[in-house]
Amino acid sequence: MGGFEAVGSIALGGIHEEKRRCDKHGEFTSRQCTSSIWSGCPQCAEDTKAARRLEDERIAWERRKMDEQARVEGNLNRAMIPARFRGRTFDNFVADTDAKRHVLEVARNFQANGSGLVFSGRPGTGKSHLACAILQEVINGGGTGMYATVRDLVLMLRDTWRNGSTQSERDLLRTLMSLDVLALDEVGVGFGSDAEKTQFFDVIDGRYRECKSTILLTNLDKSALEEYIGQRAFDRLREDGQWIAFDWDSYRGRA
Ligand SMILES: [Zn+2]
Repeated sequence: MGGFEAVGSIALGGIHEEKRRCDKHGEFTSRQCTSSIWSGCPQCAEDTKAARRLEDERIAWERRKMDEQARVEGNLNRAMIPARFRGRTFDNFVADTDAKRHVLEVARNFQANGSGLVFSGRPGTGKSHLACAILQEVINGGGTGMYATVRDLVLMLRDTWRNGSTQSERDLLRTLMSLDVLALDEVGVGFGSDAEKTQFFDVIDGRYRECKSTILLTNLDKSALEEYIGQRAFDRLREDGQWIAFDWDSYRGRA
């Protein structure tokens, strides 16, 4: 703020005014507020106000950014990505053959807009790696997602029937329907009962109707998966889904 000096003084009906000069903004009219206090340069006051406004905006922006980071962090935690697959990204997927480059390309281009994927291949071929990379990409972009084995899913649903359960089956189904991406692993490992199989279909079917993307990970081939999940659910998958074969040897086997 510039300093100032008096350049002339007048008294109008008891209101004392005088011309003063701001080093920065030149001449201005200063009014006497009390016997010893005179108003300062109005432009300097504006500048101070504007600087304060900018600072408030910066603080608000930082707060929003922190809220957003906290939201992403929360969504990542709720995604239940297993510890060994956290931090698996597109960049650290080793694509050393054309077939692997192809699946990596598919995963990178995946849009959580209702389209589905089936990753089919032996254990240790990178299916979970790429599914978890997709999940983390979607969540970091502000979306929601979850990773679960079919067994986890069945256990979660069964847990809602328990006395004293904190959420109802309806609430859990609503959550499962609302996720932008659901990655279901170990599709093909036996169901305990027909009721569990029906629940699995309800989730697949419900998400299909809500235009939500589902990624199925399985060791089964096409005909075995069709037999396993039934004609109707299989048709659902085929309608807007892409079958991706991970037909190479296990990384784990080589390691
Ligand atoms: Zn000034």
